[in-house]
Amino acid sequence: MPTIGPRPRPGILEISPYVGGKAEAAGGVPAVKLSANESAIGPSPKAMAAYRAEAERLHRYPDGSCTALREAIGRRFNLDPERIVCGAGSDELLALLVRAYAGPGEEVLHTAHGFLMYKLAALAAGAHPVAAPERDLKADVDALLARVTSRTRILFLANPNNPTGSYLSGEELRRLHAGLPEDVLLVIDAAYAEFVSAPDYESGLALAREHPNVVTTRTFSKLFGLAALRVGWMYGPPTVVDVVNRIRGPFNVSQPGQAAAIAALEDLDHQAAAKAHNDRWLPWLREQILGLGLVVHPSVGNFLLVDFPREPGRDARAAEAYLERHGLIPRNMAAYGLPHALRISVGLEADNHRLVEVLRDFLRGPAHAGAL
Ligand SMILES: *Cc1c(COP(=O)(O)O)cnc(C)c1O
Repeated sequence: MPTIGPRPRPGILEISPYVGGKAEAAGGVPAVKLSANESAIGPSPKAMAAYRAEAERLHRYPDGSCTALREAIGRRFNLDPERIVCGAGSDELLALLVRAYAGPGEEVLHTAHGFLMYKLAALAAGAHPVAAPERDLKADVDALLARVTSRTRILFLANPNNPTGSYLSGEELRRLHAGLPEDVLLVIDAAYAEFVSAPDYESGLALAREHPNVVTTRTFSKLFGLAALRVGWMYGPPTVVDVVNRIRGPFNVSQPGQAAAIAALEDLDHQAAAKAHNDRWLPWLREQILGLGLVVHPSVGNFLLVDFPREPGRDARAAEAYLERHGLIPRNMAAYGLPHALRISVGLEADNHRLVEVLRDFLRGPAHAGAL
């Protein structure tokens, strides 16, 4: 830390910058990226065409209020566009919510293995992140409510959660909300909502429609396959929408991003294909990896959290290195306090088969590894 020169606000130097999923294996070996929960099947051809069509207009500023995109989201999810704000990924919206509602001396509550951005956004705003314990890697409503204090400003809940893959039912979500003071903002981050089929799941849109202290965030980065373009959105009460609109950048979402997102929303066939792919391969991968004798946590997202034995040479670190040497990139979970686990995104059919084969060889041990 520099001893001279400008000093950042308290909290900022406590941040370990967010490290995204690696895109390349060591040594630049071409590899299959299973580290960032991106769409296995890629973007909609219609979204790609809409993106390309914007090339002629790159000198023009985007529509700063994302009017057409908010209307398209409203049509697709049956929402009032006036209550939607778009962002440069939902990450931007999460950070803006913290900046607007929490600061020094105040607390931002999240679950122990919740999405890392909550903690980082809290520290960036000078607020104090507070982690509530989970039960079996799942949000624990009572533990969260027990940690609410007079200083709590925001409760972030990823539902389903990344990296654990677990979720709270609509009923549990309502119980959590009912136990919160009215001045605590409940942010339901439903980045994986489109993948979930569980009948007791609710994305949070209904809660956000009904209550002045509930916001839900969504993204085009996962099922919609547009992570590169950075487009997300939030739906919430008019008061919160007004606040976020006051502090966001006036042109925070690029025009190619807006155009591609609209086309992706309208391509229902591609959305169905992405969902069907996940519905087929997520359970297959889980069964196969369980069959290798590893612990695989139940997941309703497009990824699995896998525990490895705590033995040198067979642990998560060794597995990560082995997978990388064989062209597959999982996500290291040390930053999430899960050093014995790896998170693995669902890939294309061939990638999923390859993953299982390479894991099988890894678990057989060094005597057999050479055979690969
Ligand atoms: C991927 C992810 C996001 C971020 O999505 P962007 O819209 O790409 O910023 C937010 N929350 C969770 C839980 C995620 O896994």
